[in-house]
Amino acid sequence: SPVLAGRTALVTGAASGIGAAVALAFAEAGASLALVDRAQGPGLDAVRDRCAEHGVDVVAVRADVAVEDDVRRMFGDARAALGPVDTLVNNAGILTESPVATMPTALFDEMVAVNLRSVFLCCREAVGPMVDAGFGRVITIASQVGQRGGAGLAHYAAAKAGVIGFTKSLARELGGSGVTANCIAPGPVDTPLGGGSLSPAWTQSLMAGLPLGRQGRPDEVAPTAVLLASVPGGNLYTGQTLGPNSGDVML
Ligand code: NAD
Repeated sequence: SPVLAGRTALVTGAASGIGAAVALAFAEAGASLALVDRAQGPGLDAVRDRCAEHGVDVVAVRADVAVEDDVRRMFGDARAALGPVDTLVNNAGILTESPVATMPTALFDEMVAVNLRSVFLCCREAVGPMVDAGFGRVITIASQVGQRGGAGLAHYAAAKAGVIGFTKSLARELGGSGVTANCIAPGPVDTPLGGGSLSPAWTQSLMAGLPLGRQGRPDEVAPTAVLLASVPGGNLYTGQTLGPNSGDVML
């Protein structure tokens, strides 16, 4: 049977890019899905419909993961529609470019709220019931930028390094409860976020340094999430950061 049959996952930022690819891969692997995004366009419903073609239960929930009440509501909606959530994929994120010397305080705060604080809010909501059930998987999409840094990306790097440290601590707290927590730190991936919001100079210098010589596609990142979510494939990973990154960061 499919590796995630009988499982229920909540995926944030599922309307686009890596989140959409993870949602589709999870649907293909048999998981019921709560797909969350704050975007008001048709993207989220389109992803929901494509996932449903695999014969799994799927609900789409509009919510902003940076807003505490939204996070509570989206877990409530997911549980009401699908039952207990055993897998959380923290994927929603934003990327902007700004040198430290001229970075507005509001931009730094927004980056931390959306890319780091949201991970805390979602994990706090998710892990209690997982521990009670004796099983759960928390998967957070970090970034290679959190490992190597990036000029003009100090706020993003700080948030992404933050989720890696947060995940290691959560993994230690969860101990032998049956709930694991891991990060995926992709390299450059061809998505609206990856391509659209960075200067050509930054993108060019990044591509030039990639051992594999090219950026990744979202569907090349998603299998790492399936691995971490699956049993027994993901059983021995906790507190880890896996890097589908075209070789840019080697740990
Ligand atoms: P994307 O822009 O294609 O998709 C991100 C999705 O998240 C969008 O649908 C957006 O509406 C949603 N989102 C953003 N803020 C939200 C919020 N506050 N609440 C709910 N939804 C929100 O981007 P992507 O490239 O697929 O990025 C997904 C994740 O992967 C992000 O965490 C990003 O930092 C990370 N990442 C991307 C790359 C890359 O090169 N594309 C590399 C490393 C890490």
